[in-house]
Formats: sequence, structure tokens, C-alpha cells
Amino acid sequence: MDTKINKIPVDLHCHSTYSDGAHSVKEVLDFVKANNGKHIALTDHDTVNGLAEARIYAKELELKLIGGVEISVTWDKNVLIHILGLGVDENNQNLVTNLQKLRSFRYLRGEKIAAQLEKAGIPNALEGALKYCQEKEALSRTHFARFLVENGYAKANRVFEKYLAIGRTGYVPQVWAELSDAVSWIKNSGGVAVIAHPARYKLTRTKLLRLISDFKTCGGEGIEVISSSHSESECMDIARIAQECNLLASMGTDFHNINNYPKVNVGLNYPLPAICNPIYPRLGIELPCQITI
Ligand code: AMP
Ligand code: MN
Ligand code: MN
Ligand code: MN
Repeated sequence: MDTKINKIPVDLHCHSTYSDGAHSVKEVLDFVKANNGKHIALTDHDTVNGLAEARIYAKELELKLIGGVEISVTWDKNVLIHILGLGVDENNQNLVTNLQKLRSFRYLRGEKIAAQLEKAGIPNALEGALKYCQEKEALSRTHFARFLVENGYAKANRVFEKYLAIGRTGYVPQVWAELSDAVSWIKNSGGVAVIAHPARYKLTRTKLLRLISDFKTCGGEGIEVISSSHSESECMDIARIAQECNLLASMGTDFHNINNYPKVNVGLNYPLPAICNPIYPRLGIELPCQITI
């Protein structure tokens, strides 16, 4: 990214301890405020449980809180895709019930991950990972990663590829939500569905376009163009795809931990490329929508 460009006070993707973030909702919002952020969507994995607390504290800090969630989806038999729901209503019972079902797999998978690590000579991983977890249904590979790093089993930048990525000792396959179900839960609760960090899946162009086509058929409308997972050239590439496929453009830091690399300023992002059609009006965000870069 061209670091001479000023960031804007919008962040539509971040995590708290309600999923695999390292900081409480209050801490995350305090960071946003300290960074001079303004519009913030809390998008915890497979849960909206942090939003009630976030709404109260955001009001106190005079931040504009957008209801969000990041849903784990299994697409095309075995590809893990994350779908963001932005502007969702956390009191929508259909959304809450379906997310709860999805989260019920997390603890069971965690037991299997720990058993596999134990066989590989790493004891007590379940208890170790649970220490970082606010609710046991939130148990994530990120919590196992922290346990492994803090106990000296791997370096932070290598822990996933060493233990937790597909095919590694601590990997347990999991079937998540159907793409069509995730999009319909989001839409039925008043939200806009957005494909998160598309460049991270390392799909071929043909496969990415097929994902987008399936997503649009289900009623999906947006794609994340600016993401801390994307290089500058990936941002431009996804911006062009968003334009060609007529998708709304979104942006987010995907903040998890103040100590993570690359460093991100939660609450702030680089502006969208001018060819993009920003998602802002759909979320009630009033900003100069087109910033030429
Ligand atoms: P889970 O939903 O429990 O399978 O965990 C997925 C989470 O792990 C993602 O949301 C990321 O926060 C994190 N993650 C996945 N792959 C990596 C990776 N290669 N490096 C760092 N974090 C990762
Ligand atoms: Mn995560
Ligand atoms: Mn994600
Ligand atoms: Mn995320």
C-alpha cells in the first residue's frame, strides 16, 4: 500500500474475545477510538454474542457500531470460505439459532485437535487453548496457535503451517455452513453478505469467479477489496473483479491481536480504489464515497 495516502475512519472487519480475537470488546473499541476510527463493524466468527455489549460501549465512545458476523462456510465440498454479514440484527432468532448450531462443532473439534497433538507429544493443549477463550463454543485454531507459540512449540509466523493448516498434525476437517444458508441467514436478519479476504483462498481465477457466481445466485452482494490479508496488487485485482462482477466493495483490517504482524490500525483503512462501488450507503455510512487514488 502507498503509505502516503491517508487512511479513512471505516473498518468493517474485526474480532474480539467472543471469537478468536485477543482483546475484549471494550479494549477493541478503545483501540478504535484511540486511532480516530469512527465506523466499526464487529465481525466475530460464527457469533453475534458480542454485539449487545459493543453497541452500549460504542455509544459511550461516540463510535458508529455496525452489527457484523463472519460465518465459516464449506464451499465446493472442501474449500473453507468466510462470509461476512454486515448490518445484521443480533436479535434475529433465525441467525442466532443457526450460528449456535455451527458453534457447537467447535468444542468437539477442539477435543480432536488436542488428542492429535497429544499423540504427537504435545500434552494439555485443550486446557491450554481454552484459557484464551471467553466461551468454549468459540474454540478456534487461533487459540491452539497461541497455546503452541506461548509454550515454545512453534514461532508465531510458522505455527499454522507447522501444526494447524490442512494436512498437519493438529488439523481436523470440519464441515461448516452451506454458502446458500450463510447468505440467507445474513439477508433474513437485514444484513449484506460479503466474501471476506478473497485473495487468501488462493483460488484459480476460474474457481474464484465460480465462487462469486454461486455467491450471487444465493443473494450475496459484496466482496472485501481492502484487507490486511491482501497485497496492494491483490487489492487492485479484486477491485477490478468487484467492478466486473457488479459487487459492492468492502474493507476491513481483520484485526485480531495488537501484537500480530502485519500491524493494523483497527478502525482505519486505506480508501477504496475509485473504480469501486462502496458498500457504505447500504450500511448508513456517510462518507465521501469516491476518493480518487
Ligand atoms: P477456525 O475457524 O477455528 O478453523 O480458525 C480459523 C482462524 O485461524 C482464522 O479466522 C484466522 O484468524 C486464523 N488462521 C487461519 N489460517 C491462518 C494462518 N495461515 N496464519 C494465521 N492465522 C490463520
Ligand atoms: Mn480469526
Ligand atoms: Mn476470515
Ligand atoms: Mn476475520
